[in-house]
Amino acid sequence: MASNNQNKPPVLSNNITKASPSSNKKKLGVDEVTCDKEQKFGAEKMVGTANNARIRQAFSVVNGIQDLGLSSNPASNAGSECGTIEFTREDVEALLSEKMRYKNKFNYKERCENMMDYIKRLRLCIKWFQELEGDYAFEHERLRNALELSEQKCAEMELALRNKEEELNLIIVELRKSFASLQEKLAKEESDKLAALDSLAREKETRLNMERSHASLSEDLGKAQEELQSANQRIASINDMYKLLQEYNSSLQHYNTKLQKDIDAAHESIKRGEKEKSAIVENLSTLRGQYISLQEQLSTYKASQDEAMRQKDALVHEVASMRVELQQVRDDRDHQLSQVQALTAEVIKYKELAVSSEDLEARCASQSNQIRSLSDQLAAAEEKLEVSDLSALETKTEFEGQKKLINELRNHLEDAEYKLIEGEKLRKRLHNTILELKGNIRVFCRVRPLLPDDSSGSEGKLISYPTTTEALGRGIDIMQNGQKHSFSFDRVFMPDESQEDVFVEISQLVQSALDGYKVCIFAYGQTGSGKTYTMMGKPGHPDLKGLIPRSLEQIFQTRQSLLSQGWKYEMQVSMLEIYNETIRDLLSTNRDASRLENACNGKQYAIKHDANGNTHVTDLTVVDVCSTKEVSYLLDRAAHSRSVGKTQMNEQSSRSHFVFTLRISGLNESTEQQVQGILNLIDLAGSERLSKSGSTGDRLKETQAINKSLSSLSDVIFALAKKEKKEDHVPFRNSKLTYLLQPCLGGDSKTLMFVNISPEASSVGESLCSLRFAARVNACEIGTPRRQTSMRSSESRLSLG
Ligand code: ADP
Ligand code: MG
Repeated sequence: MASNNQNKPPVLSNNITKASPSSNKKKLGVDEVTCDKEQKFGAEKMVGTANNARIRQAFSVVNGIQDLGLSSNPASNAGSECGTIEFTREDVEALLSEKMRYKNKFNYKERCENMMDYIKRLRLCIKWFQELEGDYAFEHERLRNALELSEQKCAEMELALRNKEEELNLIIVELRKSFASLQEKLAKEESDKLAALDSLAREKETRLNMERSHASLSEDLGKAQEELQSANQRIASINDMYKLLQEYNSSLQHYNTKLQKDIDAAHESIKRGEKEKSAIVENLSTLRGQYISLQEQLSTYKASQDEAMRQKDALVHEVASMRVELQQVRDDRDHQLSQVQALTAEVIKYKELAVSSEDLEARCASQSNQIRSLSDQLAAAEEKLEVSDLSALETKTEFEGQKKLINELRNHLEDAEYKLIEGEKLRKRLHNTILELKGNIRVFCRVRPLLPDDSSGSEGKLISYPTTTEALGRGIDIMQNGQKHSFSFDRVFMPDESQEDVFVEISQLVQSALDGYKVCIFAYGQTGSGKTYTMMGKPGHPDLKGLIPRSLEQIFQTRQSLLSQGWKYEMQVSMLEIYNETIRDLLSTNRDASRLENACNGKQYAIKHDANGNTHVTDLTVVDVCSTKEVSYLLDRAAHSRSVGKTQMNEQSSRSHFVFTLRISGLNESTEQQVQGILNLIDLAGSERLSKSGSTGDRLKETQAINKSLSSLSDVIFALAKKEKKEDHVPFRNSKLTYLLQPCLGGDSKTLMFVNISPEASSVGESLCSLRFAARVNACEIGTPRRQTSMRSSESRLSLG
């Protein structure tokens, strides 16, 4: 449609013939008729929307022109160019407003030609218009069809819409109904809600009222309680007053009865008076009768009459006085009566009060009853308490007695234990002394338990421990090929004996290092028999630590306790390994370099003994230590260093001797005493005999080295045992190990050898060898150990390390 709009034919107005835009004036020879207003109007119309009626009108105009042109004008030059030329609005406008100009107005031929040409162009234009119209008609028809179709559709839609509308209307009606019912419901519910709100409000109000009344009531209650208290007080005071009043009342009653008695007496006297009066009146009448009779006797009786008259006067006087008295008594009585009335009113009042006080008294009585019962209970409870106190006291005294007894027993026990320990210590010391005096190299045998990895065999029958009293803990029997071999050592540790048990036995020996002895402890045995376990323990298990850490702990502890006696100790640790007759410093910080140097320079780690019997290894790392922590750190370092060697040098650890040396130098400030002790703890290389045939290269060299050093160790020991005093005859220099330990193997040191035994059946041969060697060693007497002490004044301190 948009393209249609673009191609819309220009709207041509009726005045198109008269219109003449100035631009085309030259070309067209139409009369110059200009009308700007009309042109504008036409232009406006052309701009307007397409309108079929207008288009048709425009065509009719063009047609008219065409007709005119056809009849009078020649074809224009424009027409010759193309049959279906497209016209734009401007073209058409230009065409229509074309003006013809002529030089000669009367050159009709030229004009006619021009006109022809113009007509031709107009025709072309008209033709284009007609085509366009045809198109439009077709379009119109199509649109009409479409319109009809859409109208039809529309009608259908309308029908459907109407149906839908009806449906919707129905729905709407239903909805309205439901809406109405809902509204009704809503209204009802709202009214309900309102009612509920109302009732809620009312309830709230009532609740508020209730609360208020509750508050006021509680206030009232408080007040009433206060009042009750004050009333109680008042009652008490009233009771007092009541008592007083009762007393007063009784006194009044007393007084009243007295008064009434008086009244009675007065009444009686009045009665008497009246009687007397009546008697007197009688007398008077008789006297008057007598008077008449006596008037005759008047003269005679005048005297008596006068007397009688006097008597009468006296009596009258008496009566008057009596009357006055009576009046007085009456007044008195009235007064008393009014008093009695007032008193009775008062009494009534008090009686009322008495009633209320009775109430209160009843309450008081009940409360006092309660109090009485409670106090009864209290008394009972107190009695019980007393009884229980008594029993508690009894049990306490009993308990105290028993406590005392227990304490006594405990003290006794402690004493006994102390004595026992002391006795044990003494026994050990004596034992040590005997051994020292004997000069033996002591030998302890330790059999390790069967491990899960071991080949389980009949080991129970292979190794046994005699139970006779003299051999208990000292003897060991081993079976080989049905033959029993018995050995006896200074001590035999069975497999179940702990590290602690072992250490207890050597603690004395360790102790003597602090006293200035040279101490040497070896662990001898085949690989896997428990040498390292005995010396070092199991890493990572503090309760399974071996002799080295335990010894150090003890030394540091003892050092601490000796501080109070004035002893000050300095300790130095060195650790080395002898492998293939080569010394390796296990504490060296520059391990690789030192090993290299050591390899090329045989003079490094040279062993030197000085005149004082102190050993010095050149370039060996010696570390000052003052706590167990430091030593355990150094042990870790050495173990690490060894384990590195192990991986690098093919199980070197069991093929090398490990020597731990602790040098102890002590000084007593107060006594000026000095001591020099050495503790050597040595984990020897595995003693098993390797089959010499087949061993080549490194292995052969290794084996030879071990054999050499172990055999030179036994040579030295046996040579020492022969008591040959001359050093030349003891082959210390045959191996690095013996040379290093020379001062400690000599006569003045304490030497102990552990022979470690594996319980495995396959190790019987090796075990027997070890035991035989140990037995020979045990039989050796190498001399009496000597303490190395000196006074500070003599020479300077001995050099160490
Ligand atoms: P060695 O140093 O003589 O070659 P080890 O000390 O390495 O032997 O001991 C070999 C194995 O036996 C280790 O696993 C160790 O833990 C174990 N072992 C040695 N003696 C004992 C013991 N008395 N109790 C428990 N296990 C032990
Ligand atoms: Mg070992």
